Amino acid sequence: KVVVEKILRRRSLEMLDQQQTWQESPEGRRMLEFGRSLPAYKEKEAMLTVISKNQVVIISGETGCGKTTQIPQFILETEIESICGAVCKIICTQPRRISAMSVSERVALERGEKLGESVGYKVRLEGMKGKDTHILFCTTGILLRRLLADRNLKGVTHVIVDEIHERGMNEDFLLTVLKDLLPHRPELRLILMSATLDAELFSSYFDAAPIIKIPGFTYPIKSHFLEDILEMTGYRLTPYNQIDDYGQERLWKMSKQAPRKRKSQIVSAVEDALRAADFKNYSQQTRESLLCWNPDSIGFNLIEHILYNICENERPGAVLVFMTGWDDISSLKDKLLIHPILGDPNQVLLLACHGSMASSEQRLIFEEPEDGLRKIVLATNIAETSITINDVVFVLDCGKAKETSYDALNNTPCLLPSWISKVSALQRRGRAGRTQPGECYHLYPRCVYNAFVEYQLAEILRTPLQSLCLQIKSLKLGSISEFLSRALQSPELLAVQNAIEHLKIIGALDEIEDLTILGRYLTILPMEPKLGKMLILGAIFNCLDPILTVAAGLSARDLFLTPMDKKDLAEAAKSQFSRDYSDHLALVRAYESWKAAEIDLAGYEYCWKNFLSAQSMKAIDALRREFFSLLKDIGLTDGNATTCNAWSHDVHLIRAVICYGLYPGICSVVHNEKSFSLKTMEDGQVLLYLNSVNARETKIPYPWLIFNEKIKVNSVFLRDSTAVSDSMVLLFGGSISKGDADGHLKMLGGYLEFFMKPAVANMYLTIRRELDKLIQI
Ligand code: ADP
Ligand code: MG
Repeated sequence: KVVVEKILRRRSLEMLDQQQTWQESPEGRRMLEFGRSLPAYKEKEAMLTVISKNQVVIISGETGCGKTTQIPQFILETEIESICGAVCKIICTQPRRISAMSVSERVALERGEKLGESVGYKVRLEGMKGKDTHILFCTTGILLRRLLADRNLKGVTHVIVDEIHERGMNEDFLLTVLKDLLPHRPELRLILMSATLDAELFSSYFDAAPIIKIPGFTYPIKSHFLEDILEMTGYRLTPYNQIDDYGQERLWKMSKQAPRKRKSQIVSAVEDALRAADFKNYSQQTRESLLCWNPDSIGFNLIEHILYNICENERPGAVLVFMTGWDDISSLKDKLLIHPILGDPNQVLLLACHGSMASSEQRLIFEEPEDGLRKIVLATNIAETSITINDVVFVLDCGKAKETSYDALNNTPCLLPSWISKVSALQRRGRAGRTQPGECYHLYPRCVYNAFVEYQLAEILRTPLQSLCLQIKSLKLGSISEFLSRALQSPELLAVQNAIEHLKIIGALDEIEDLTILGRYLTILPMEPKLGKMLILGAIFNCLDPILTVAAGLSARDLFLTPMDKKDLAEAAKSQFSRDYSDHLALVRAYESWKAAEIDLAGYEYCWKNFLSAQSMKAIDALRREFFSLLKDIGLTDGNATTCNAWSHDVHLIRAVICYGLYPGICSVVHNEKSFSLKTMEDGQVLLYLNSVNARETKIPYPWLIFNEKIKVNSVFLRDSTAVSDSMVLLFGGSISKGDADGHLKMLGGYLEFFMKPAVANMYLTIRRELDKLIQI
């Protein structure tokens, strides 16, 4: 013991020395002064005292006040100063991988070290940490995975859960798991950090844990709402303006198709707000323009106009544009790049900030651009609280975010961008006033802002719970519903039951809610169960390449572009890929042709000519590689490109594997004289998205369509679909694992009796039993 203590003391002294030397260097002093100028520094002593006296502490403070970068350092420093600094291990979780990476890099820089020394990070498939790493930034998912192997978090002294105000599913889940752990680890400290001031909920969950509030400071920010922007710039909105946007065009068409029903309560709240608003102090043109405003459209033309206006007329300062997601960002970027001023690299530094960007791109976001160059960052809500760009002076807020909302009653996820909360809008606005007075352009009228909800609902209350249920099972936390009843806020019982039922249907859970072997594989593949299933079977049947493309394509949206003015050309280009009655196979063909062109360095040109999004292609490419290495990691493929693609040319097999992954997303094709209609058991008649290759057919020579997603707008719409045969559904629908044929038959039997002759069921059972003997996953 004495020897160990000696070693620790020596190590602590070394670290102390190292820091002192660094802080005496000019760069070190600058960093030290920067850190001391942040509001968090003023609360340092108070925070450390409370942390030492309480097992759980909640810290809230405005974004940019220094919570994420400073507080872990405060803890490390005091521990170093006491004798046992060298044993302190701080884990700080971030909801997104990009913030874990950028924050760790920043903290290492502030300490004058290389990343991987005392500060490290770990995100899925990537990381940098060593044996002397004392502060580890990781994604919430990584900590959950660590809990799988190490229930008591042995050796960890502090867990910091950051950004808890976002109420992400993983964070809520982690808090429940940690709450159970605390009594077993009385010396472990739990620190929860949040940007907004709804800390009381967390405090009461953790037995009245103390709350520390860090006062913040921002320069005054001027708000311009849509009506002010129109008045100020003289811009005129027209219906044409609204539909000119790439991705939005489809939505607009859909709303034209079925105008009878209201879209959702939120949209109708917007319509009511607009009707009640009074714009009498505004010009005739502004009032007319507002009538043309389409709340469903992000308004790319308007954004372009405002950006141009800022570049031409406003003082220097970076511009931050909040968009809904990666696909909107890349479409807007494509559009701006062909603008004479905004697309000119000598005048504008155009950057994107989203979850899947490269780290070289990340660094540029923080750097101040050269003189005369205007930095414009197109961001998702990552830039709302996780990442602070200091030199932002102008913010454009589209008022929306893409998030999954969930209607437990009909089990249909809605993936449309939805309006943000007031808290989010204020956060976005606040980004403009970090270093000097700023301006925020809200791309919606003030009355719509007034109709926003105060706070966003927690993710656990609004999204499907399948992945969460699998995690609960893999961490052996007992009954799913019992565990969830102890969550910070418990989801509806019906949503929990739906998720469990779904997991049984796809064969991940057995009758008594235990993980099947397939289920166990799915828990180690960090993706939606359906993608995981598809990849597993693609690897087993040696048709991996096309299945990797399909799985990646399901995550990266809108590969095929349809600009309004070149619709016919775009459709003609798409038809060369779409001869299989399958959107998924069209994607595979497009990807493969692009890949061939890419070898000759003509990838971008190929996309341009064929109306494909080069950005989406690159995203698919990156995801494919990620999926492939995951499969290699868990030993499902040896990575030999020839053997794992022995059957990749077999279109029937690929259909079958897609069917295996996407089941029970299935509808029957009913032909009539001229055309066909589609029916599912739950919804009755359903429609195809207009951009589906199957929407252009008049006849489909298969009895079923298997689809990855249905979305309720007015009617139920199916996104990408693939035509499959009876035998594929019979053999590959549901799970392929021993012993559940009866349960599965009950489910499929429902379909069979609904659509087909019951006699087929018996045939199915016989074939299925034989197959189950052959294949056991
Ligand atoms: P909080 O977590 O409270 O939102 P942070 O600790 O992330 O605040 O940031 C504190 C300050 O450090 C901010 O002013 C931010 O701009 C700055 N900062 C953070 N990361 C970087 C970086 N990678 N490069 C430059 N400055 C950064
Ligand atoms: Mg932070």
